[in-house]
Amino acid sequence: MTSQVYYIIVAMMLASATLSVIFFIAWKSMGRKNYALSWSVAFLAATLQWSFNLQPSLFPSFEVYWLTVNALALAVITLGIRGHCQRTRCQFLPGNLWPYAGLVYVAVVWATVVDPNVGLRTALIPAAACLSLFLSALIVLRHRATPRPAEWAVATSLVLFGITQGVAAGMAAMQGPTGDVTYQALYLNFNFTTLPAGYMATGMFVIFMLASDISIDMKEIAIRDQLTGVLNRRGLGEQGAQAYASSRRTGRPVSVVMTDIDRFKTINDDFGHACGDDALVHFSRLLIEGRRAEDILARVGGEEFALILPGTPLERALEIADRLRARIEAEDMTVNGVAVKMTASFGVAAISAKDTCLSDTITRADRALYRSKRAGRNQVDLDSSQMMIAEDGTLKSIAS
Ligand code: GH3
Ligand code: MG
Ligand code: MG
Repeated sequence: MTSQVYYIIVAMMLASATLSVIFFIAWKSMGRKNYALSWSVAFLAATLQWSFNLQPSLFPSFEVYWLTVNALALAVITLGIRGHCQRTRCQFLPGNLWPYAGLVYVAVVWATVVDPNVGLRTALIPAAACLSLFLSALIVLRHRATPRPAEWAVATSLVLFGITQGVAAGMAAMQGPTGDVTYQALYLNFNFTTLPAGYMATGMFVIFMLASDISIDMKEIAIRDQLTGVLNRRGLGEQGAQAYASSRRTGRPVSVVMTDIDRFKTINDDFGHACGDDALVHFSRLLIEGRRAEDILARVGGEEFALILPGTPLERALEIADRLRARIEAEDMTVNGVAVKMTASFGVAAISAKDTCLSDTITRADRALYRSKRAGRNQVDLDSSQMMIAEDGTLKSIAS
């Protein structure tokens, strides 16, 4: 082994150990993401692989050495792609990866012990790595319609690394069954130049992707209500502002439906706080049932919710609110085996020319809600500044 190769292997071993520790800490202290653990174990296997590469003489024979480091390399490859499957919950079942790795290993054993072939036994691992790096890039990019910047960075580095591993596999294969020394030197030079860069770039970008996942999770937690999973006040502020701005830009109407469970306190008093919590989850599900993806539902108080309906005029919002009211009244909720009736009151308003932000519309819908409470509950009221008496005597909206 030349001294350059020795130093590169030492660097690879240290880099793998560092990455393994980083992913272990990420797993332990940042939400126990299973893919962080897979990658930590993958880099641990890589650390072992590189340390064995430093000392082949420790093994009783070349074959034992070769089969050991190849088994570790296959574990690294399989755990790497397994992590991407776990992260994206990809259909490609992680458990199914091990038989593929097993098949490659059988081929390695064959080309090492049964029918020795230098070119083949050297090419198999880089070829398997090339395939799994390409597959991992595909898994990362196919995961969502618009991949995040960190995912593009990871996928690009996976593809580039995959290409270099593919070229390395080609060079290794060109050594032929007996191992042509010229191609062997070419393969070693190429592999030991590209491997550290591929390892480090992919490792770093994957850490960056993990950090970006965690920051997005944190943001999600900050804008969601823990109990019901719908948006909280802060989330409503953010998404409501977007709906308001889009309405101002396009002139599309936006309606707001505010709702509050009637005499919710009695559910808590009669059945306990835990059943009250179940009732809140049940209520939020009824509100979101059948709604469009662009509709926004938020829990703005204990048992008060806001439903923002972009592109929906006031009359339509009124119909929606009344249908929800009837649905909630008709639905029996089972608490401790007992059917409980629940009703809710509603207030509806639409963005008007005078509103300076969505909070103005929400305030008017809230006022309408409290009018419907005062009028006896289990009913829908409309913002009075947006109503008029039509010629036929019915109530009509004058929202613009
Ligand atoms: P109204 O018809 O006037 O709205 O009467 P209400 O009893 O629904 O309203 P009130 O404001 O008097 O009581 C609301 C209750 O909601 C009181 C509070 O303990 C309960 N509450 C608020 N947040 C939660 C929660 O997260 N879980 C449970 N179980 N109860 C909650
Ligand atoms: Mg209430
Ligand atoms: Mg209330």
